[in-house]
Order: sequence, then C-alpha cells, then structure tokens
Amino acid sequence: MDKELYQMTIHELYRLLRDKKVSSQEILHSVFSRIDAVEEKTHAYIALTRDVARQQARDADEKLSKNEGGYLTGIPLGIKDILCTTGIATTCGSKILENFIPPYDATVIQKLKSQTAVFTGKTNMDEFAMGSSNENSFFGPTHNPWDPDRVPGGSSGGSAVAVAADECIAALGTDTGGSIRQPASYCGVVGLKPTYGRVSRFGLIAYASSLDQVGPVTKDVEDAAILLNAVSGYDTNDSTSINRKVPDFTKALGRDLQDLTIGIPKQYFIEGLDPAVEQAVWNAIREIEKQGAVLKDVNLPHTECAVPVYYLIATAEASSNLARYDGVKYGYRSSNETSLLKMYEQTRSEGFGPEVKRRIMLGTYALSAGYYDAYYKKASQVRTLIQQDFVDAYTRCDLIITPTAPTPAFKIGEKANDPLNMYLGDIFTVPANLAGLPAISVPCGFTDAGLPIGLQIIGNLFEEEKMLQCAYCHEQHTQWHLQKPSLV
Ligand code: GLN
Repeated sequence: MDKELYQMTIHELYRLLRDKKVSSQEILHSVFSRIDAVEEKTHAYIALTRDVARQQARDADEKLSKNEGGYLTGIPLGIKDILCTTGIATTCGSKILENFIPPYDATVIQKLKSQTAVFTGKTNMDEFAMGSSNENSFFGPTHNPWDPDRVPGGSSGGSAVAVAADECIAALGTDTGGSIRQPASYCGVVGLKPTYGRVSRFGLIAYASSLDQVGPVTKDVEDAAILLNAVSGYDTNDSTSINRKVPDFTKALGRDLQDLTIGIPKQYFIEGLDPAVEQAVWNAIREIEKQGAVLKDVNLPHTECAVPVYYLIATAEASSNLARYDGVKYGYRSSNETSLLKMYEQTRSEGFGPEVKRRIMLGTYALSAGYYDAYYKKASQVRTLIQQDFVDAYTRCDLIITPTAPTPAFKIGEKANDPLNMYLGDIFTVPANLAGLPAISVPCGFTDAGLPIGLQIIGNLFEEEKMLQCAYCHEQHTQWHLQKPSLV
C-alpha cells in the first residue's frame, strides 16, 4: 500500500525531495489535510502557523530547485510552545504568556530555519512544562491517539501526539524530568533527550535550568539522529552549552552490537511496574542480546531518592525562574490593580494555573532561610550521589536499559487530583536529567488494550551515538514503530 506523504519520515521525504519526486508545498498540503482531519480529536497544537509554513515551504522549494538545502529543508515540523519563535506567539501552555510574541528565535529554531525547515505550529504542553499528562495546559488537554480517553503523557504531549497522529513529520520537545521520553513512550514514537549542554537552551523558556534540554520527537530512530544533528552544538548565548565537536549521529546507525555491554539495573524492575511493560521491556532486552550485546546487572542504589530530589530541585529552580512573570515586563497583567504589590499578586494569581502555583510554593519553601539546608542543599547532595551511581555503573557497561515509564498511558482525570501519584510515575526518567545523561525512548510493544510501551536506553555523557546504535538495531529487528493508531 502506498503511504500518504504525511505518514512518511524525514529520511523518506528527504529522498523524494532531493529526487524532485515531490515538492515541499505538496508535503505541507498533505500534512495540513491530515491536521484538518484529526486535530479536533487530538488537540496536539496550541496554534497552527499556516501562513508561516506556506512561505517556508515556498522558500524550501526554491532552495531545493537549486539543489541546495539539507535533510530538513522543506520538512514540516511541530515545535513545542516553549521555544521562542520570532513573531509567533509562544505561550508555554500558560495564560500568563497567552499573548507573548517573542522578538527573537531560540537557537534551535534559528538552526532549523537556516535549513529552511517548515513549522506547522506550536504544540500543546503542560503549563511551563510542569506535568506528566498534558492536562495542565491552559488551552485544554491533548488526547492520546491510541485511546482518546487517555493522556498522551507530558509535558511534550502535543509534540508526541502530533508525530504519532501524523500531524507533522517530526517535532521538537523539551525534557526536564522525562517530558520528551514519557510522552514518546505513551504515544508509540521515538523521543530523545540529549546530554545536558549538547543542545542550546537559549530561547527555551526556563522551567528548571539545570535539567532542561531540547530534543527530537520522531517516527523512527534515523529521524531522531537527523534532527539531533540539526539542533546540537555549542552556543555562546547559553553559558551551560558545552563546546564540544558534534559527531554525525546518523553514522552510528547500522553498526552491530557486538562491542556493547548493556547494564540492567534491578532498581528499575520494581513493584508497581505494569506486567505488560515488564514483559515488553524484557523481550526487547533479549532481542538486543541476540544482536550481540552482552548483558550485565548494574546497581543504581540511589534511584529511590530520584523523585523527591527531582521535585525539590526542579521546583526550587522553577520558583526562581518564574519570578519574572510579574505583569510588568511582558505577558499577562491583571486589570484588578490597586497598588503595585496587589498588581503582582493578582497577575500571578490569575495568570498561573494550580500546578504551577503548587510548584512555586514548594520551591520557595525549599529555598527559604531555615529550610534551605534541610531541603535544597540536601537534595543537591543526594543528586551528586545519583550522578555517582551512574559514574560507577558506566565503568561496567556502555548503556543502561530500563522501561521508560512504569505504566502505559493512564486515563484523563485519573491522577489529576493526586499530584504525588503523578510525580511517582516519573521515577524512571528523572535520574537521567539529574545526572545530565542522554536517554532515548523507543517503542517496544503494546498492552492487550493496544497502548504503546516504551523502552528507555540511557547513555553515558555525550555518548548519544552508542544509544542511537542500540536503538536503531532494536528497531531494525522489530515492527513496533510501524504501528499506527486508527484515528479516522
Ligand atoms: N513530569 C515531570 C514534571 O512534571 C517532567 C516534566 C518535564 O520534563 N518538563 O516536572
């Protein structure tokens, strides 16, 4: 059966564009017809940028007609609404930034523009990237295309759904504690969080600066490598960006696994892990072993501290980062102002949603005099222990394999009134952020009810290549990534 253009991957479309079998404008037309057919059911986007996209597609076609351009020239991409785009509203899923139009582009956006990629729109997300379900968006929840009554995961749920439902060819997300990988796993797509410092954070609206990273959400591993190539690299505008040569990540694909040792940490196969998830992950591990990798038990003893440590550090940093939304400089301002202080108070009370307020309060508390040592300082110390666990583990193995999330996608509303339960679901993804490590989630199976399951591969610092090598090999020997939700 012939595929529609919107169903294709970056690397498939790249070849068609290069061989002049199709134009960027035709691809865009196909993608927008798909969006028109399914967006009402998914709500993957906060805003579509049709006019911008049409112009970009025309520019791409012109470039391609001169045999110029790269892998992403003319490719329709969804952009998480946390990345600043000149002249296009960037809301961060929040009322407080509902009308914010950035005067500059995030570095990753500039990089995509320099290749003349095409932007379909800004994807839906939990407000300020705080959440694991996309229910915290001011603009309403996104629906999982495999079961519209279920969450797509979060906070990059819109990006994951846009990719899974073929409403774009690939997308950018951000990951502070799992926000690329967990929605990728819930939606049956590939999501990659790069090593901290690999990709510039300039123009990424900050949630927790020591944890945030931008990364690709794609239909397969090759596309993840292509998109990672495009966004990686040193940036003088980001003081935490690392000046290090960026390899061609696509070169890692296709290597066999003979030289790889895979660590399996027992702390990730625990009570509460859904049996279907456990089964699918073990099937994948066995397949990877069959391809030549050697398995080894590794110990990550501080894993149980990861969630409390993450929720102290992330909220502490967020309370500081979000202090800038005061109704003065930009964004929403309450009209109920009687004094300056009242104006600040009203603006923030009206502009932020309940989860953001909860986290600002938690973070402010953790940083306050008298509690700083007991909470923030202690959490920072334990963070070092978590990092050290990985340093030790990587003396014995090249990669660590785990489930991405303990369960498949849950029902919309199921955990909405139980934040602690929601936070606990981040157990397998937050350690990589705390340690700055790269990690990828790839599809590895389905539950009996037809919900996707994700496999997480965590690499050592700056070893995305090994991670991609393993992920690609697994993908080559399985069919999970080719399954599509039946939406229409
Ligand atoms: N679910 C985590 C949180 O709510 C992670 C979010 C993220 O990675 N942005 O903080």
